[in-house]
Amino acid sequence: MNLSALPAFADNYIWMLHDGTQAVVVDPGDAAPVQQALDTLGLQLAGILVTHHHADHVGGVDALRPRLHGPVWGPAREDIPEPFVPLHDGDLVQVLGLRFRVLDVPGHTAGHIAYAQEGAAEAPLLFCGDTLFSAGCGRLFEGTAEQMHTSLAKLAALPGDTRVCCAHEYTLSNLRFAAAVEADNAEIGAYTEWCETQRSRKQPTLPSTLARERAINPFLRCGEPAVVRAAQAHGAADDSGPAVFAALREWKNVFR
Ligand SMILES: [Zn+2]
Ligand SMILES: [Zn+2]
Repeated sequence: MNLSALPAFADNYIWMLHDGTQAVVVDPGDAAPVQQALDTLGLQLAGILVTHHHADHVGGVDALRPRLHGPVWGPAREDIPEPFVPLHDGDLVQVLGLRFRVLDVPGHTAGHIAYAQEGAAEAPLLFCGDTLFSAGCGRLFEGTAEQMHTSLAKLAALPGDTRVCCAHEYTLSNLRFAAAVEADNAEIGAYTEWCETQRSRKQPTLPSTLARERAINPFLRCGEPAVVRAAQAHGAADDSGPAVFAALREWKNVFR
């Protein structure tokens, strides 16, 4: 199975999986890069997975329908271009012989879902939209800090070798914030160097892995003493996970 990140807009990735004949894409905000990839590789589009309703994730869905030979799947609780198969927490999606478990991960939007691969022959895939980014997380547009903290904990509990397919290339700017939170975390420095090399070659920094995110992503490290101290210096009400998360998220919103 081939996995690629099709760049779209300024910093989106449309993830594409294909087996040489059929393809599935995740969050096609723009149809053009998908059409181009399908044409170049001679692939049939077997399905579309959607994580949430934002235009940069669904804007290309209708333009792709004429060449779609399968369903559009999306979160039941969000306004996705009709028709689509509405998904709830715990549902299974089977496509290209792969199996994905649907996880409710509200916070960025109220009905945001993620797709976590099960029964994978290689490292499992996670399509997490705008919930988890490498070294960061999505903004809270419709949900609370408490919801997002719970959603991220759900994702962080997946196997460490999980390939984390985020929908935006935000890694380097997120890493500047991560370094401000945890100046003594050597893994942040080493990973930053690797990401800078990737970007200088115009390559994605993604997918990441959950093991790496657990080591460097401050939003998954709300129980680490250094992260707690930094959050408390930036207004965290107490040392509980949700309070630390909320303070980090607000600090990040104004971090330059
Ligand atoms: Zn979004
Ligand atoms: Zn987005």
